[in-house]
Amino acid sequence: RDGVLVVGAGEAGVRVATALRELDYQGRIVVVGDEPHQPYSRPPLSKAFLGGKADEDDLALRTPDYFRAAGIEVRTGRAITHIELKDAGGGEATCADGEVIPFGKLVLATGARARPLPFEGASLEGVCTLRSLRDAATVRDRLAEAERVVIIGAGFIGLEAAAVSSARGLATTVVEREERLLSRVCAEPLSRFLRDRHGEWGVRFELGADVRGLVGDGHRVREVVLADGRVLPADLVLAGIGAVPETTLAEKLGLTVQRGIVVDAECRTSREGVWAVGDCTVAPHPHLPGEVIGAESVQNANDQAKAAAAAIAGVAAPQTPVPWFWSDQRDLKLQIAGISNGHDEYVVRGPDPAELTVLYYRAGVLIAAESVNRPKDFMAVKRALAAGRTIPPAAAADLGVPLKESVV
Ligand code: FAD
Repeated sequence: RDGVLVVGAGEAGVRVATALRELDYQGRIVVVGDEPHQPYSRPPLSKAFLGGKADEDDLALRTPDYFRAAGIEVRTGRAITHIELKDAGGGEATCADGEVIPFGKLVLATGARARPLPFEGASLEGVCTLRSLRDAATVRDRLAEAERVVIIGAGFIGLEAAAVSSARGLATTVVEREERLLSRVCAEPLSRFLRDRHGEWGVRFELGADVRGLVGDGHRVREVVLADGRVLPADLVLAGIGAVPETTLAEKLGLTVQRGIVVDAECRTSREGVWAVGDCTVAPHPHLPGEVIGAESVQNANDQAKAAAAAIAGVAAPQTPVPWFWSDQRDLKLQIAGISNGHDEYVVRGPDPAELTVLYYRAGVLIAAESVNRPKDFMAVKRALAAGRTIPPAAAADLGVPLKESVV
């Protein structure tokens, strides 16, 4: 039994296939995705696509010609509903339309789904999530007609959408349960920095605010009711409250799942011959032994895909990557290197009202940094982390010295 079946034709699934061919893997490769589109990139959905500066063609991960030439069979618009693993290795997957695809090795790259709003009124017309191209097209159409936009959740997607919505001159309010923006991922100085900039663009924030429910006018959303009884009028409500790893098939296969599918550094799951990559996975935390974390990023999807491909092809694993992430909000380019949770100290490089860098330390050792419009700081930290080096906190605070000169 030969061949690799990849379930999910997103960033991670496609990259497994291309990495296998780059490693000269000769077997059959089939990538099956349930969305109707050719494989596409998600990050622009909440940025250029939403802002009308990119359309579907600009999002393609690879061209159909590329897949044809590489001998990668991409089947879109079909969901895998059942997978049978054989004792001797390999197995068979069944699509919703009944087609059966045999495989030797299996890679789950099923991504994540937008977390739905848990409130009454969440299914009213005008209440949207933003995960897929179809979602983004709906939000883009609605933005064209909306006057008052309420975004629930001050995470990356919520803030990127707020940047687009306010740039269109729409009355934009972001409701967040925590007391600050991006509270799960960044330090207080960055939260404050982003809040100030969004405030200058006219975005209003309701922080420390819970939503009680959504109220409609017939079938269309009309207002967001907060827990304290206040009412925010809205003709478009966008939920940006996180994503839930898609683990249905993994659970049916009896794989170990702790929120996401648990994988090791080579993306092996708890069953021989089954790998998992991208947003559907969680992996051991680099700083906190015994804990697993998920990393919803393009970098993670690509690096996990390369690691899985190497393991499947039986070649040496690539170097352990440094996690990184970016977010664009109008003229702000936010870049993050490393993983800050588990830090016991942070240093702000600044102050400069137009830019910002925050470096995170654990026991005096650099573990991560976030920067806005300071690509050189980001690169210096990313390189230092990749080389296992550090930047002493006192040197990092000195804006007069380029960070790369302070690496030890
Ligand atoms: P996905 O891209 O979700 O792909 C999984 C695919 O599998 C989906 O098409 C799904 O429908 C399909 N699937 C699931 N189950 C089945 C099944 N049973 N059968 C067939 N197909 C199935 N990351 C960054 O680093 N920077 C950014 O700026 C950034 N911005 C983002 C903006 C938005 C709006 C979103 C939604 C994400 C953003 N991300 C960003 C995150 C990044 O896009 C994801 O980390 C990445 O797409 C993960 O790739 P994946 O292949 O694991 O999952």
